[in-house]
Amino acid sequence: MLTKDVAPGIHCVTESHVNFYLVEDGDEILLVDAGLPTSWPLLLEALTALGRRPRDIVALVLTHGHFDHIGIAERVRRELGVPVYIHDNDVPLTRHPRQYARARPLTWYLLTQFKAMPIVAGLLVRRAWWPKPVRRVERIRDDVLPVPGSPRVLFTPGHTLGHCALHFPDRDAVIAGDALVTLDPYRGTTGPQIVSGAATADEERALETIGLIAATGVGTVLVGHGPAWTDGAERMVESARRRGPS
Ligand SMILES: [Zn+2]
Repeated sequence: MLTKDVAPGIHCVTESHVNFYLVEDGDEILLVDAGLPTSWPLLLEALTALGRRPRDIVALVLTHGHFDHIGIAERVRRELGVPVYIHDNDVPLTRHPRQYARARPLTWYLLTQFKAMPIVAGLLVRRAWWPKPVRRVERIRDDVLPVPGSPRVLFTPGHTLGHCALHFPDRDAVIAGDALVTLDPYRGTTGPQIVSGAATADEERALETIGLIAATGVGTVLVGHGPAWTDGAERMVESARRRGPS
């Protein structure tokens, strides 16, 4: 499903409660995150709906290396010939997508969190845990990336150790990836929160580093799972911290 203009010139594609984003800048498009292995047709549909072509995509930035954010990254890289950016610390995840650190065992959540079961089932059906490894990546080196939209990198480790959010100052928006979400796929809970320990490496660090997102003062925070938050980054972070780890 495509939701246009979740922020100015930023469009959201959602599949099975997983979001990825297209950022328009003149004739060019930046892709932020790469969904599930089954997301390719959705990307093509979204481009058509926006009156764009695949070759308008000139870069892909991965907020982190989790399986449900790198689904079609290798296909995008290979077929469109675009660079794939990710932080150094998450490069190993792009090679071995199932070897990610968790604060608590995934099986506990799968067996006890009834609200999350349809979400996890949807991910399993789409073979979310089995994306193609990304064969070549560009390591994020600078604060401002040389890609459409010129996002400022907010290094927000915790969810993964190389997680980065992207700040678009002129659009009053941050793409937060999974540093902050409005739906936790592993508990089925809604509202501002960090992702549960089923898929977060270091919850304490995650709750600390989201302070960088609050400090941007943006109105809109676009997340990896759940609808956009439009009530200000500071309030969102405050609320997620009050809720704490789960
Ligand atoms: Zn994640």
